[in-house]
Amino acid sequence: MPYKRNIILVAAALLIIVVACLGYITNKEVNDLVRDQFNKQQQLLIRQCAAGIEGFFDEKTFLIWKLGIDVSDKPTEDMPKHFIDFSRQLECFSCMGFINSSGIIATGHPYSQAGVGTNISGTDLSRLFDCAKEKGNVYIITYLPKGRDDIRSTIGMPIYSNNTFKGVIFANIEMTTISEWFLDDVVSKEDGYVYVISESGQCLYDEAHKEMIGKKYIGNFCDNNSSFAYMINEQIEKKDGSCYYFDEYTKEQQIVVYTPVECRNIDWIIGLSVPEEKIEKLVYSVYEKQILFIVVVILGIIIGCGIIVSMFSKWNKELEMEVKIKTVDLRRSNIELETANTKLKQLDRLKSEFISMVSHELRTPLTSIKLSLDVLKILPGSKKDESTRDEMLQIIDRNIDRQNRLIGDLLDISRLETGNLKLNCKAIDLLDVIEESVDSMKKAAEEKGIRIYADMQGDSFPVKADYDRLVQVLVNLINNALKFTREGEISIQAQMMNGHPQITVSDTGIGIPHDELDHIFDKFYQVDMGSRREFGGSGLGLAVCKGIIEQHGGSIRVESEVGKGSKFIILL
Ligand code: ADP
Repeated sequence: MPYKRNIILVAAALLIIVVACLGYITNKEVNDLVRDQFNKQQQLLIRQCAAGIEGFFDEKTFLIWKLGIDVSDKPTEDMPKHFIDFSRQLECFSCMGFINSSGIIATGHPYSQAGVGTNISGTDLSRLFDCAKEKGNVYIITYLPKGRDDIRSTIGMPIYSNNTFKGVIFANIEMTTISEWFLDDVVSKEDGYVYVISESGQCLYDEAHKEMIGKKYIGNFCDNNSSFAYMINEQIEKKDGSCYYFDEYTKEQQIVVYTPVECRNIDWIIGLSVPEEKIEKLVYSVYEKQILFIVVVILGIIIGCGIIVSMFSKWNKELEMEVKIKTVDLRRSNIELETANTKLKQLDRLKSEFISMVSHELRTPLTSIKLSLDVLKILPGSKKDESTRDEMLQIIDRNIDRQNRLIGDLLDISRLETGNLKLNCKAIDLLDVIEESVDSMKKAAEEKGIRIYADMQGDSFPVKADYDRLVQVLVNLINNALKFTREGEISIQAQMMNGHPQITVSDTGIGIPHDELDHIFDKFYQVDMGSRREFGGSGLGLAVCKGIIEQHGGSIRVESEVGKGSKFIILL
């Protein structure tokens, strides 16, 4: 066990290391990728900016060049009119003017700002004047005018009249105009800042360090050895690319992308500085989205699995239920089959018993008749033997009756089964039926020493029925009562029960066991072999009685207690 546990621990540790390595590599790759993409995006942004500024200066210098040609033949006093038109069309110029060949601002618009009458010698405009004159073409200077804190670019265009240098026209563009048009909205203040430096490292524009405008960064903003100075030098040298530096003031690592602005003699570098934290935020947002995606996927899988599992368990339960129902059905049909089988076996047994009973019942009377006849044959005709002859004849008579009854029962049962038992129904009185039945059995009862009597609770019980068949039923019941009663009495009662006549045949005989009560009306059924042997009979009597009564639309039932007696109740 400890060995196994160690292996599991080592495997788990290895797994954690592998997962950690993979996590580290993935993190690095994602980081690099995001950083790379971010750099490219920033570079694109800053290049668009630079292209905008270049296009702006290209267009403006061309227009100034054209203006120079247009006004070259015009007298100086006509020039302001052109300047006004020009300024109106192009709102970017803060001021325009004309410096004559002697270096005096001869005219301009707006008049006050143009410094009309001023000698430019020693000013920045003199540099513009000299360069434009020397090159014979448009020239641009960028400088911080005296007493101001905002950089200005001035475009100068030399003009000639009949190949004679006439002077230089100039147009001022304030850096605020350029920044408004191209720089201010590149990036929001929280996300970073844009700056512009000249090729000499002078700050021309800086959103974050306005105090540096017009000054050189190195020496004013940072030491020569600082990472910022290193970055500025790298930008001046390479002009295009990206680099990092640590901002001493904000204490933040910054990423800088920079690109040149080159137009005519302009050689600026425009840079965009963004805190490195922004990339980290981007990386985290990528992770957040990935984690969100993974969580959603896992949740989806869990919910999906849950639904599938619950569906399966529901199907399973339904299936189990179905199997249970089917099993119960199977059990029930099995029990039914078993019952049917038992019934068949019982029927088979009854059939065998019936055959032996019928043969016995048929043979016994015949034997008695035969013996009685033999006695009669040898009996001399003397008076003394008269009583023996009578006795023999009675035996013959009784046995013929017995056989008659059996054959009658057999015929009746077969008629009942085939539906051929026809009733001859007419208006009769039950009292007559009972009276005749009791009368016919009286002698036999007396012989057995059993009292038989009718107990009528009414003067008449009129019914519509088959008189003979009802007598047959009652005789059968009384016969049974007599057969199964050793001592006591048999009573036949008649009474009205809920408007229906009811006949009850009660005896004080051996009674019928409780579990046999349901079967005694079945054909061929006898309570037990012993009783059958002792008492004789075919097991058909009650079945015939039931058939006849039911055909009358009535019912017959039995109440009995072993040793106390039985009660057969007929309701018509
Ligand atoms: P059986 O010819 O054998 O009498 P029955 O159909 O008339 O045929 O009766 C069926 C069985 O019911 C009898 O064998 C007997 O066991 C039982 N039986 C019928 N009547 C009585 C009774 N009054 N007392 C006790 N047992 C009776």
